[in-house]
Amino acid sequence: MPGAPENRPPLGEIVLAGPRGFCAGVERAIEVVERALDVVGGPIYVRREIVHNRHVVEALRDKGAIFVEELDEVPPDATVIFSAHGISPAVREDARARGLRVIDATCPLVTKVHVEAQRYAREAYTIVLVGHADHDEVIGTTGEAPGRIVVIDSVEEAERLAVENPEKVAYLTQTTLSVDDTRAIIEVLRRRFPKIVGPSRDDICYATQNRQAAVKQLAADVDLVLVLGAANSSNANRLREVAEALGTPAHLINDVRDIRAEWLAGVTRVGVTAGASTPEFLVREVVAYLSSRKMPVVRELNVVEEDVRFGLPHELIEIARQSGKQLAASARPTSG
Ligand code: SF4
Repeated sequence: MPGAPENRPPLGEIVLAGPRGFCAGVERAIEVVERALDVVGGPIYVRREIVHNRHVVEALRDKGAIFVEELDEVPPDATVIFSAHGISPAVREDARARGLRVIDATCPLVTKVHVEAQRYAREAYTIVLVGHADHDEVIGTTGEAPGRIVVIDSVEEAERLAVENPEKVAYLTQTTLSVDDTRAIIEVLRRRFPKIVGPSRDDICYATQNRQAAVKQLAADVDLVLVLGAANSSNANRLREVAEALGTPAHLINDVRDIRAEWLAGVTRVGVTAGASTPEFLVREVVAYLSSRKMPVVRELNVVEEDVRFGLPHELIEIARQSGKQLAASARPTSG
């Protein structure tokens, strides 16, 4: 009929969660490797993935960093960087015994949890560490007091937990857990051990909390959530779970190539977020792909502004000073 509006589906929309992607601890860890490559004369070894993202690891490998699983792969007298997730004192001692020069890129917010573990262990507490037993961060924290720390990751385990002295129990948490799940576990611990001590709320870091708060709003606003992040990234997995818990289908993807066309069938609004170790260029690739599939509108949903920055480790500053080289200012690209 002449003059009638064209009968076509509404234009699609891409909604980007903010904050998303790199946190201050990841920015710092990557910068540590890049600056070390500048100022250290000789190869730079990195124990384990510096952060849990293969795009980040491959980019640093291309620049010259050598990634190893264990210290026995590092030649004597070489320089080794410890990852953002932290290490146990046994690894630090092993490095010393091998005569390695160490630069520690452990996130300061993980170090804070280590310091809390040391203090509670000195005061003879049984320490309940809420976290995933196989995650590098939890392995490192447990190493601070192996005989005193018990790791749990569910309400059921909190209900079953038996300790030697219920009057002398402390709790700590991994930094990248689900805020809601952790609150439920801590509530059980507080009920079962009324004298339990711990941080005022938990040790979940600002970046994890902010990204979960953002994905909650995002999930309420879209038909589908895509979370960019690695399968072994704890905080990225939690983002997918938080979105799904709100009833919105959500998928964790490494990059744009993981998107399946059937996920987009009948979907007009797609939310995109990224874990704390995911580079922004991967988000831009997803936006470009979705835009090519008739989703021309891009909207930012920013729930919190972040301005956290951490200084470089003192070992790196000292190496630069001794070598007479300048530590170049960070100039992190947001693409590639
Ligand atoms: S996620 Fe949190 S604890 Fe982990 S590196 Fe980032 S700021 Fe640090």
